[in-house]
Formats: sequence, structure tokens, C-alpha cells
Amino acid sequence: MSINLDICYIKELNLDRLVKKGTLLWNFRCPICGDSSKSESKKRGYLMEHKNKKQLFFHCHNCSASGDMYWLISQIASHLLNKYKVDRQAEILRGKKLKIEFNFKSNKEVIKSDNIKIVEGIIPVLELEKDHQALIYLRSRQIPEKFLTRIYFTENYHKWICKQRRKGALSWIKTDPRLVFPIKNQKSKLIGFQGRVIEGDNFRYLTDILVTGEHKIYGLDGVQTSSTIYVLEGIFDSLFVRNSIAMLGMDIQLDMLKELYPNSKIVYVLDNQKRNEFVVQKMSKVIKDRSTGVVIWDKEVSGLKDVNDIILSGRSEEWVNQYIINRTFFGLMKKQLEFVNWKRS
Ligand SMILES: [Zn+2]
Repeated sequence: MSINLDICYIKELNLDRLVKKGTLLWNFRCPICGDSSKSESKKRGYLMEHKNKKQLFFHCHNCSASGDMYWLISQIASHLLNKYKVDRQAEILRGKKLKIEFNFKSNKEVIKSDNIKIVEGIIPVLELEKDHQALIYLRSRQIPEKFLTRIYFTENYHKWICKQRRKGALSWIKTDPRLVFPIKNQKSKLIGFQGRVIEGDNFRYLTDILVTGEHKIYGLDGVQTSSTIYVLEGIFDSLFVRNSIAMLGMDIQLDMLKELYPNSKIVYVLDNQKRNEFVVQKMSKVIKDRSTGVVIWDKEVSGLKDVNDIILSGRSEEWVNQYIINRTFFGLMKKQLEFVNWKRS
């Protein structure tokens, strides 16, 4: 197995503002956190030679996301994952090393049922001390009590998730306290986790889907296909919206959701951030899609960047759900018109 395979895959990843900085060093805008939303020129994602000299290693100095090429592909270009796995295994066999590194079978021990209690090392937030920073934080975001049962905490997420992935932890990350959100599929089977920092900016999420072939979406286990399905950008926002799911990747997955829910109405509720190019790009994609609905914000919520923000401004869950229904648009013309108004407002 050689590092060349990983190098070949760099160009497949469409990394934004990619520059080769050295023999085995590349720099680009981090595709995990999106890098700085204020400065387009900020680039804090790096690919470099792995310590084992057989692979490349990704790290972002903004969100601290780290992982090997397999992990990076799984996060930002999952359509390439199977091909990469096959290529990698062919390489390994060529090198007469029969040890297959990406062995997901081992995870079955951890994820053997949907009973989350068997996952060791994470603590249900409701079992924490009342004045624990995680609980204080969740309450400051006004997360409804009924959802606290679905949220966990760990002092060192990085170390813990590396254990779940059966990979060594990076020794230089000494502490990484995060909230942990178990992710389940439609059949309520546990398939992965998202770790979210408590302090710091909004982008600090790490998502790991540990079962191959599963979707990177939160909330699939609670969806009723007979009602409209709302698609939000983050887990917190989705907790306030009825019959909703949250996208955990960077990109909009129009076709994937249509395949998953061929007979349901799907409505996107993207952030109210008209100056964020990523949000505007995603919004444009949804606007152009004939069959998908979209919520377009108006002056009633100006200055509030997402659903959680609206709640924090004093509106009730009931109000938010009604507003979302009122501001849902279908039809190319209608969507386009409202989109223009939103961008202008
Ligand atoms: Zn990043």
C-alpha cells in the first residue's frame, strides 16, 4: 500500500482553493466546517503525510476535524467511498499485506442493537450534575427537556470516537469535551454519532457514520412519511420542528431524499443567512428543483439566523411551526420570486 492512491484521490474531492504547499502538503478551505464564513480567503484545511508514511492525513485548524483519506471521503464525497475502499484493498493485496484496515465488522460489537446504553464511555446528559456545563449549555439553547434523553456527553469525544472506529487517537488532542448525538436509521438502528463542541462557534461538528451504506442524516427514525418532511441544517434546529430531519453533511442531497421518501412532500428549511454563500448556494439548488418545497424567510425573523435563534428570541415552538407552514413555497416561479425578495431584504 502506498501513499500514491490517496494523492490520486485529492483531485476527486473538489477541494475549494486547493494549493500544493510542499511535496506532501496541500492546503484548502476546510470542507467539514466550511472554514471562515467571513473571509473567503481563509484556508485552514490541510492534507499531509500520515505518520505511517503510507497514507495522507487530513486536519483542519479551524474546526479540529481530523482523519485519514477514508474518513475524509466518507464525510464529503461518500459516493466515492466504495471505489476508494476497493482501490485501497487492491493495493493492500498487491503489497501482500492481507490485513484489511477498514474493517467495519469490528463495530458490530459496539453497535449491536438500538439500545444505546451499551455504548460505553458516553454519559446521558440527564445523569450529569445539574450545574454541569453541558446541561447549562443545552438549557441556554432552550432545548426542550423531552429531547435531553437523546443527548449524551463525553470529556474526550475524539478519543472515544477513535475507539468506536477502532483507530488510534491522536495523542496531541488531550481533551475534547462534546455533546454526543446518536444517529439512527429508518429502522431505529444505531449507525453513528455526531459530536458537538459546547464552547466555540457553530461549525464545530464531527459526524461519524460507522455502518457502511447508511445515510448521514439525523432523525430518520422519527419520520412519518404521510406528512410533509422538513429538512433542516442542524440537529438543534430540527428538534423544534415537527416531522423533521437534519442534514449532517455540507451538501444538499435532493435525489437521495427523494429516493428515500418517493411519496412524501419534502421541504427544506435552510438557515436565514443570505450573506453566507454556502447557504445561498444550497437555497438556489432547492429553488431550481421542481418538486421540492422550501421555506423562505421574511422580515418577521430578520436578524435571526436559524430556528434555534428564533426560539431564543422568545417565539414558541408552536409559532415557529406555524411560521414554517406559512412560509413554505412550491413551484419554480413562486420560489424564485420569494428568493429574490429574501436576498434583497
Ligand atoms: Zn474545518
